[in-house]
Amino acid sequence: MKFHLLTIFPNFFEGPLNHGVVARAAEFGVLDLKVHDLRTYTHDLHRTVDDRPFGGGEGMLLKPEPVFEAVESIWPERTEKQKVILLSAQGRKFTQQIARELLEHEELLFICGRYEGVDERVAEHLADYELSIGDYVLSGGELAAAIIVDAVARLLPGVVGNADSTINESFEEEGVLDCPQWTRPADFRGWKAPDVLLGGNHAEIKKWRKRAAHEKTVRLRPDLLT
Ligand code: SAH
Repeated sequence: MKFHLLTIFPNFFEGPLNHGVVARAAEFGVLDLKVHDLRTYTHDLHRTVDDRPFGGGEGMLLKPEPVFEAVESIWPERTEKQKVILLSAQGRKFTQQIARELLEHEELLFICGRYEGVDERVAEHLADYELSIGDYVLSGGELAAAIIVDAVARLLPGVVGNADSTINESFEEEGVLDCPQWTRPADFRGWKAPDVLLGGNHAEIKKWRKRAAHEKTVRLRPDLLT
């Protein structure tokens, strides 16, 4: 799967996407990451990517021309399997279900907004998805894009060692978090791992885990159960 990241800070992704399973998957060729500098698609001396909003107001917006030109030159003949994602605080909230949906495409191109955002024509006429990672405002779309790339990449076959480990996780079953887990030592400062997990009764363990996952969901994320 191929991921394109369109940004005014091309070095930004060297940190977040160069570690752990995502870096390993890129090494093995399971995923291909390509960062594109938005300023490459400008034609003036100052390589201008922003301008003031019509109607007044704070700050600057990313101009439409370089963004459209970038996407059209990265994909001169865009197909159904190539999707454009605009990162936006106003977007649909990104979820594990959307991560699974994005996995169906061959290439994704992420447009990382900056300043006060992006000219609305990008959302209306260029993006297939307008996605937010949560109800808060970031200073740019880069971190949001890295989060989505990470969540999608780890679902690719062969990226996370054992396919089951991405199936039995939080949000995969409707409304239920993953179960709480423990590792050695069984007794740490007097806090003990649950006895049932130390015995070898797999049917009991399965039942216990299901209940523990449900209890944790009720306690911390009751909204998932409605
Ligand atoms: N004025 C906008 C916020 C702009 S923040 C508003 O109030 O809605 C600048 C850029 O950061 C956005 O264009 C977007 O690309 C990114 N961004 C900010 N918050 C985000 C979020 N919650 N999810 C995804 N991207 C976000």
